[in-house]
Amino acid sequence: MSVPRFWRNQQSRYNLVGVKCTNCGRTYFPPRSLCPSCRRLGKLEKFKLRGRGEVVTYTVIHTATDGFGDQVPYVMAIIRMEEGPQLTAQIADCDPSEVRIGMKVEAIFRKIQEDGTAGLIHYGYKFKLLEGGNAL
Ligand SMILES: [Zn+2]
Repeated sequence: MSVPRFWRNQQSRYNLVGVKCTNCGRTYFPPRSLCPSCRRLGKLEKFKLRGRGEVVTYTVIHTATDGFGDQVPYVMAIIRMEEGPQLTAQIADCDPSEVRIGMKVEAIFRKIQEDGTAGLIHYGYKFKLLEGGNAL
């Protein structure tokens, strides 16, 4: 899982808006301009994800990149949203040993990273474990 790629995609993911193909019903997140199944037959319409999903797989990050030093260890997970798309995000507010594949999670709006030199604070979504979100 690539953390730098995660940050590059952050802007398009900011509001949890995906697209749905009107032809085949597939959903994509982050949004894309063409349905790879339908090509020109499909029309993509934006929709807002409800923000709930489950953990498909995860990894515990022990070595932080710049700006994440105070957060290690933390959990980066691939999450399958209720609407179908999968995305990569941090799971916050948990002990990494609590996380299990199949757990239910919910998006939360959080400070993602603080840039000490420029004084910039970036906000975006993370996920938290839902109460009673045990693996099925
Ligand atoms: Zn399609």
